[in-house]
Amino acid sequence: MKKVLVLAETRDGQLRNVSLEALAAAHVLAEGGEVVAALFGPDSGAHAAVLGHHGAGTVYVADHAALAQYTPDAYAQALKQLIDFVSPDAVVLGHTAIGRDVAPRVAARLGYGLISDVTGLEAGPVFTRPIYAGKAFQKRTFTDGAIMITIRPNNIPAAAPDTGKTATVVPFDVEIKDLRSIVKEVVRKTSGKVDLSEAKIIVSGGRGVKSADGFKPLYELAEVLGAAVGASRGACDADYCDYSMQIGQTGKVVTPDLYIACGISGAIQHLAGMSNSKVIVAINKDPEAPIFQVADYGIVGDLFEVVPLLTAEFKKV
Ligand code: FAD
Repeated sequence: MKKVLVLAETRDGQLRNVSLEALAAAHVLAEGGEVVAALFGPDSGAHAAVLGHHGAGTVYVADHAALAQYTPDAYAQALKQLIDFVSPDAVVLGHTAIGRDVAPRVAARLGYGLISDVTGLEAGPVFTRPIYAGKAFQKRTFTDGAIMITIRPNNIPAAAPDTGKTATVVPFDVEIKDLRSIVKEVVRKTSGKVDLSEAKIIVSGGRGVKSADGFKPLYELAEVLGAAVGASRGACDADYCDYSMQIGQTGKVVTPDLYIACGISGAIQHLAGMSNSKVIVAINKDPEAPIFQVADYGIVGDLFEVVPLLTAEFKKV
């Protein structure tokens, strides 16, 4: 039986789904042992109850002003102090911008092992993670020592909440000093109402949309489906949309239930960010486009005809 710590994440005052998925992973790692969680930042303690419903026995809340926004220094200091205090056998974070940055820093400082971008987890524990930009998967395990893992959002299902389970909330005082950077202002660039990295459905556009205006039919379809809108780098480079929408090797990695690629050729660097989607639909006028090799459903046609037809049909449902 092991003790496992989850660093939960919030954004815009909301608890991120990946934190609940991390708790599910933590229970596999704990093998019947203790699962505890941490929340960083002022007012973050408001989410402790939900973490309790998902199986965190204790929630440590570090309510420090320096943790209001992510900075590598402040988060690394706070997480290290918490790990020193809790002494977990394993630490689980989301494979998010924060998790990807802070996990290796702290693992290196503490001499912990690290397995990043975990997409599957079996008892043992055996971790599955993608390699070669998602072309293959490897299975990894640890033989000894404490470990840190980051889990890819939307891959390890969260457990159903049990409102009968509650967490003990413990304020945790952290000492944060010698910060080399502070966040003065956060200016968000968003592609729509739904967060791309946690969206269940994504409608994505490539160079085939031909202009910023060409994204309009994609937004209309996304609106009907409750989807987020993403893009290839081709579309971002052509200035049809913002880089915050880019999906792929150098953009966001997404794993929605449904990914609708419109006018995207399917370059390997794009596939690296979306090929683990559960169902992929490709709309492309070139029947030889490589995207059709990974697509579950392919529509050979002009996206400006096909997408409005789909929108009209989904409106009827
Ligand atoms: P194109 O390859 O030009 O494809 C456009 C497609 O639209 C074509 O298949 C065409 O048949 C179709 N089309 C045109 N008109 C229509 C129409 N009316 N209806 C239907 N279909 C139509 N790319 C990423 O996406 N993400 C990354 O993170 C990324 N990282 C990279 C990192 C590196 C180091 C490098 C070298 C490249 C990276 N790229 C990335 C770029 C990648 O190699 C491709 O250049 C890019 O993905 C192409 O974008 P695209 O598919 O939109 O454009």
